[in-house]
Amino acid sequence: MKIGILGGTFDPIHLGHCHLARSVSKIFDLNRVLFMVSNRPPHKGKRELASSFHRFAMTEIGLLDRNGFCPSRWELDRDKPSYTIKTLHHFSSKYTADEFCFIAGSDSLQEIYLWKNCVELLTKYSFVFVQRPGTKVGPAELKLLGPLKRNIQVVCEKERPMIGPGQSFLTDINALPVSSTLIRKMIRSGQKPSSNMVSPFVLRYIKKHRLYEKY
Ligand code: ATP
Repeated sequence: MKIGILGGTFDPIHLGHCHLARSVSKIFDLNRVLFMVSNRPPHKGKRELASSFHRFAMTEIGLLDRNGFCPSRWELDRDKPSYTIKTLHHFSSKYTADEFCFIAGSDSLQEIYLWKNCVELLTKYSFVFVQRPGTKVGPAELKLLGPLKRNIQVVCEKERPMIGPGQSFLTDINALPVSSTLIRKMIRSGQKPSSNMVSPFVLRYIKKHRLYEKY
């Protein structure tokens, strides 16, 4: 099977994540996407996160009606912080008959040089990055990766490239202009995020547990 791993804090999960997983599955012919809920990533700021319990619960609720998309608590159940290298190493060495790719937005590509074992990540594993409004990556940003740039191929939505070790891609899927930050801000300021942004059931959970009202 071809399996995508979409790592994130999912604080909360939103429809931009689902659109991302669906579009990448189509282009790369993936059978399944694991939504890997992470502990605080080492490169994210000091903002207080909702508890891992709530973040995982929201991810489960947000994926209830999405075939082929499964929440995973593998990183949450391991030591903090979460490192993508450990996750990819675990899954690719345990499930050797399957192929894995790590899915991420272009904001992650911009800072991948800060990730643990960045060179190993891009030379041994497969990544699919998608352009995200506000953080589009162009030739200048790719150049900053030096020789690693050669491991990242820019592909369009109509192509059907193959994931494989050391093969990473950057593509444009017309990502939705939504982020967890925007949803948290709207809730804090008393606005209701629309059903185009976040699942109504996830929103109900947020209201019930009074998440994001103070930060
Ligand atoms: P925050 O606003 O708190 O930083 P986020 O919306 O970026 O959160 P994360 O859980 O950090 O959500 O995202 C997980 C992954 O999904 C990241 O690689 C991120 O780039 C990507 N992603 C998030 N939102 C979108 C979107 N609207 N379109 C495409 N990719 C997205």
